[in-house]
Amino acid sequence: MAVTVSKNPYNGDELNSYKNHSKKEVSEIIDKADKRFYSWRGVPFNERQKLMLAAAAEMRSNKHEYAKMLTLEMGKPISQAIAEVEKCAWVCEYYAEHAENQLENRVIKTDAHKSYVSYEPLGVILAVMPWNYPFWQVFRFAAPALMAGNICVLKHASNVFGSALNIEKIFKRAGFPDNCFTTLLIGSDAVEEIIENKKVKAVTLTGSGPAGSSVASLAGKNIKKTVLELGGSNALVVMKDCDIEKTLETCVQARFQNTGQSCIAGKRLIVDESIAEEFVEKLVVKVRELRSGDPLDQETYIGTLAREDLAKDIEKQVNDSIKAGAKLIVGGKRHGAYFEPTVLTNVTENMAVFKEETFGPALSVTTFKTIEEAIDLSNNSRFGLGVSLFTENIEAAEKIIHKFDEGAVFINELVKSDPRLPFGGIKESGYGRELSADGIKEFVNRKTVYIK
Ligand code: NAP
Repeated sequence: MAVTVSKNPYNGDELNSYKNHSKKEVSEIIDKADKRFYSWRGVPFNERQKLMLAAAAEMRSNKHEYAKMLTLEMGKPISQAIAEVEKCAWVCEYYAEHAENQLENRVIKTDAHKSYVSYEPLGVILAVMPWNYPFWQVFRFAAPALMAGNICVLKHASNVFGSALNIEKIFKRAGFPDNCFTTLLIGSDAVEEIIENKKVKAVTLTGSGPAGSSVASLAGKNIKKTVLELGGSNALVVMKDCDIEKTLETCVQARFQNTGQSCIAGKRLIVDESIAEEFVEKLVVKVRELRSGDPLDQETYIGTLAREDLAKDIEKQVNDSIKAGAKLIVGGKRHGAYFEPTVLTNVTENMAVFKEETFGPALSVTTFKTIEEAIDLSNNSRFGLGVSLFTENIEAAEKIIHKFDEGAVFINELVKSDPRLPFGGIKESGYGRELSADGIKEFVNRKTVYIK
């Protein structure tokens, strides 16, 4: 019987060991989930709404308990873990309020007496999720999926099984019927059989490119829909007419929050050559001020990375880039799973920190002379999640938005997810959208109805 052990990346302490579900248990869970679907889809919206609001209330009342598990399992600073739990309550409240309207029949005038599209749930949806926002990634899928009448089974990342079980607990405590949401304690090798199971109707995956490619291939083979939210290497394009102080604050937050472990983090700073020296000087002062320490300390802003091997990965990307000619301005050292907040200048397009995704607290700096050059640098990435532009000339900025190959363009703000706005990428960042009305319609049958 396989066992998964979770460890605190800050001090290496063993937190818990979990007995993995066997194949038989997984199959029984899916049977029960499928059975539940046929009653859950008939539950009226106002009932679902009450349950979803109860899930939000449960998180708001016990946010410290849930946040602590996030911090212990993956090293996220506790203040940011609490904010994550609160944001999950928000997404539940958002869909509780809006799902019914978002899924209202869409009447289309034709020669029929009546014709419309109705949005109906698909059934059991498998969610394969990563550890970087162990609650948020799951709730932004589960809240709309459940409100639409679907059933969720979760395969969470193996280092955050405690949080995965807490999510199941939240839905139970909120009063959701059994088997509406179930956590599977399994490794990634068990995913194939689940995708092949006829009772599983679709798959959503948030994670790395290789995981996305593997899951999407299997789902394609079995003719099942997928949504993929994969990596990113967002640029922060800083123009010479920006408000420097505000831009600095936003860029630091964009790169270093969640200890840099975010798909939508601003990883590549692309700054106008004429202000680059002043900008980097001021940036480094701010980066030095970021407080590292025990993730459970309220004052800590930089925790550890989620595992030591992840810290080694970023150390290698930084060292390889230095060997290739980048200049280390601050940081660059690793201690166990901790990696210092790092800034590298003189970065060119062929260096690891520019062309690969850096999933930790390291910011690369590249300069540009013309806006066309800035756009080319920003677009020179296999990813396409989002970009931030910093300028006081909004009118000029709006004219170039269409030139960025991205799922999102944010002006004078970091790219962030918001329940009210669609979220997702293009290129190797994946496909499909989460959140807003777009997100809830990913896992529904858009049924055409024609009445003569
Ligand atoms: P990961 O290694 O791809 O793992 C993500 C999930 O996929 C885990 O549950 C993992 O299970 C599972 N998995 C891995 N390989 C698999 C396979 N071949 N078949 C089926 N399942 C598989 O990613 P991660 O390291 O946890 O997360 C970091 C990545 O996620 C980064 O690239 C980041 O940019 C991306 N991300 C994207 C978004 C977005 O919204 N676009 C948001 C957050 C993160 P195990 O843990 O058991 O291996």
